[in-house]
Amino acid sequence: MTDRAIKMFDYRAELPGIHDDVLAAVERVLQSGWLILGPEVDRFERSMSESLGGGYSVGVANGTDALTVALLARGIGAGDEVITVANTAVPTANAIRQAGALPVFCDIDPATGLMDLARVPSLIGPRTRAVIPVHLYGNPVNIPELLERSRAHDLFVLEDCAQAQGATLGGKPVGSLGHAASFSFYPTKNLGAYGDGGLCFTRDPLLAAKMGEVRRYGFSKRDYASGPGLNSRLDELHAAILSVKLPLLQASVARRRELAVLYDRLLPAHVERLVATTASEHGRHLYVVRVADRDAVAARLATQGIETGVHYRYPLHQMPAFAAARLPAEGLPHTELHASRILSLPLHPTLDEDAVRAVCAAL
Ligand SMILES: *Cc1c(COP(=O)(O)O)cnc(C)c1O
Repeated sequence: MTDRAIKMFDYRAELPGIHDDVLAAVERVLQSGWLILGPEVDRFERSMSESLGGGYSVGVANGTDALTVALLARGIGAGDEVITVANTAVPTANAIRQAGALPVFCDIDPATGLMDLARVPSLIGPRTRAVIPVHLYGNPVNIPELLERSRAHDLFVLEDCAQAQGATLGGKPVGSLGHAASFSFYPTKNLGAYGDGGLCFTRDPLLAAKMGEVRRYGFSKRDYASGPGLNSRLDELHAAILSVKLPLLQASVARRRELAVLYDRLLPAHVERLVATTASEHGRHLYVVRVADRDAVAARLATQGIETGVHYRYPLHQMPAFAAARLPAEGLPHTELHASRILSLPLHPTLDEDAVRAVCAAL
């Protein structure tokens, strides 16, 4: 059917368009003599804050640390609980553990695959301090509804935007809706670096100042640690490269959306689509469907040169690493069913329409 492989991601395909600007940015940093927490990080942080409608950005080493830094800056740690979902990337829950807190897993709404917000209040206990909603696959969680449902308990709402940069809800960018947000610049993400990078965002200046301390050994002044600290900094080289790529993000997400519309239209009826959140513009980080006999379908597609993925095969509550996590009494039946049927189809900004047609025909 196709004479070349259809890949899940293709970093090299985007390079010709940005190659010279990336090299110029690298050269600028090399010549500047400043490699850590300098003008490039400042500049990129300002652009990110602007893209989120104003606030404070703190560049960190990766998306996992962005969550941990935000939790620690808020004073969350040992003995505290943080509600999230079990159908997310492992790092969401690792970040909770890294802060010293315990994950509590909420089941999902089967239509969207996102945290079922109606179930959140019943999971709140005396030690619950925060909720991390994950905008999974780029589909925004309804944060205003979550704020409403958790307001009485003064929960810290930390948006995990690792998969959703460029998505909006009610016209506002994800990351600007809760109390704080985390972003990842892992190479496959909507805004990818050539290595690791991450960022925390908040509109609260005091919280932002704390985030800045936590990422840098806990220093509140030179060589003086006043609280918990990591070493988790975005470096100047990556900040400079990300400054080249950030202005291209909207066009790149728009291209993802076009391809997703084509999938929506051409996929056969036996392939179940996930529902996008009302009043949202989906970030389309991943195009995920549900099918019966998922592994057999993936194997057949592979024989035709079509790469697929599963995001994610193992729900977190079934992993030894999270054996201590708290679960609802009824378990997580929707999460488990979802994990057994999901299949991620190739979707990236440099994919062409013929590739989408070929995948749909193969399915
Ligand atoms: C990628 C990802 C992270 C972690 O980001 P890293 O930069 O790899 O640490 C966290 N949460 C979700 C949902 C992710 O997809």
